[in-house]
Amino acid sequence: MAAVPAVAVIGAGYAGLACAVELARHGIHVTVFERSHALGGRARVVRKDGHEVDNGQHILIGAYTELTRLLRLTGGSPKQLERLPLTLHVPGKLHLKAAPLPAPLHLAVGLLLARGLAWKDRGAMLRMMRWLKKSGFRVPPGMKVEAMLALTNQTPTLRQLVWEPLCVAALNTPVAEACAQVFANVLRDSLGASADASEVLIPRIDLSELFPVAAARYLATRRGRLRTGNAISAIQPGDDGFRLEGDPGSQPWSQVVIATAPYHAGALLASTGACDRLAAQIDALPHEPIATVYLALGAGQSLPEVMIGLAEGPAQWAFDRGRCGGEPGLMACVISAHGAHESLSQDELILAVLAQLERELGRRLPAPQWSQVIVEKRATFACRPGLLRPGIRTPVAGLWLAGDYIDSPYPATLESAVRAGVACAEAVRARADGGRKG
Ligand SMILES: Cc1cc2nc3c(=O)[nH]c(=O)nc-3n(C[C@H](O)[C@H](O)[C@H](O)COP(=O)(O)OP(=O)(O)OC[C@H]3O[C@@H](n4cnc5c(N)ncnc54)[C@H](O)[C@@H]3O)c2cc1C
Repeated sequence: MAAVPAVAVIGAGYAGLACAVELARHGIHVTVFERSHALGGRARVVRKDGHEVDNGQHILIGAYTELTRLLRLTGGSPKQLERLPLTLHVPGKLHLKAAPLPAPLHLAVGLLLARGLAWKDRGAMLRMMRWLKKSGFRVPPGMKVEAMLALTNQTPTLRQLVWEPLCVAALNTPVAEACAQVFANVLRDSLGASADASEVLIPRIDLSELFPVAAARYLATRRGRLRTGNAISAIQPGDDGFRLEGDPGSQPWSQVVIATAPYHAGALLASTGACDRLAAQIDALPHEPIATVYLALGAGQSLPEVMIGLAEGPAQWAFDRGRCGGEPGLMACVISAHGAHESLSQDELILAVLAQLERELGRRLPAPQWSQVIVEKRATFACRPGLLRPGIRTPVAGLWLAGDYIDSPYPATLESAVRAGVACAEAVRARADGGRKG
């Protein structure tokens, strides 16, 4: 009987763990190396002063079909996600909620009943969706979201309350720079698809528990191994397989998947001595930050909806963690992409966001009992037109790349990360099968 090949995955974020789970499901012996002691990478729990929060508030949407499949596979319960119809609620300015009807009526009726939109706003939204549909959601190459909004005559109200916050939330890139094609793809697969696809799914448990911890348990039952606190610093390809610097074992690996963030992949690729161009391409990807401001306002404090839009900045969205399984009165206020807020100190930012919440909710709020700013400086790549995103293949046979930056129609999201991980697992299996047959 042929030996079962052993595969190493570097990185226990959503991409690496998705890849490992898929490999283990098919009987391949997989070991995941993770430099940190926490699982989840850029989507992980952070424990501070007795509070448990995520490194950044995340949302999923119904269109995340691969991630939701893997959540089910690894034993997740639907109760772990708060499922909400698409709702854009900006206090005192806009209330737009998808109706409980099949597509496209869910949006058409939602738009008809929306509060805060004039007829010209409704007309403009339909105009853009019709323009996109007519072209099969293909926009001219190189177009930015800003130009698409101008071309389809979007009103200032729609821009400010709908398109700008949706674009920065989905692509983590402001409309002036964001790639219109990727935004069109997101709209096609969410607003333009079934009613389920546009649903918003908010995790009721922390992001490490949601998938990474469940994936680790799944691996343990399938002879998979997870080595946390174990960084890999170099990859040496050889005739008998790959050796990893930092690996305490002595056996070579038949195949290796680099599932780190893009800014860590370059050095690992370069260490092979055979991937300098690819490493340089990945190192050239631009990045955007995301800051999350947590305000513990105390039990009894809540927002009018689980998730509200904020119109005036610095924060673009606020989430009521107490209404989705978290600490009562804990608000997570999200500031995506670069902006003026970056010149503020953390204390100034907390005060600015608190004042913004008071202004936009139209009431005084108590002083926070606890507050925390978490800034991810390179949260995702900046989703601009013409970006050169690599595929999963590298110039070294048997060495693969997985992660949210891998070329796809979508921006950097949990779903993109998972899809790249699953695609890598398929490629690894195909190569392993070829080797066994040959
Ligand atoms: C604040 C914030 C908010 C976000 N909001 C959303 C959202 O609402 N919805 C959404 O879908 N997406 C969101 N994203 C994007 C999403 O989190 C990422 O796309 C996704 O987590 C990327 O996963 P990954 O596995 O590709 O990479 P990572 O999560 O970066 O995982 C890479 C792992 O590799 C490890 N590693 C690196 N180098 C080594 C080494 N040498 N040896 C061993 N291990 C190594 C790292 O420690 C890390 O655990 C957000 C991101 C951030 C930061």
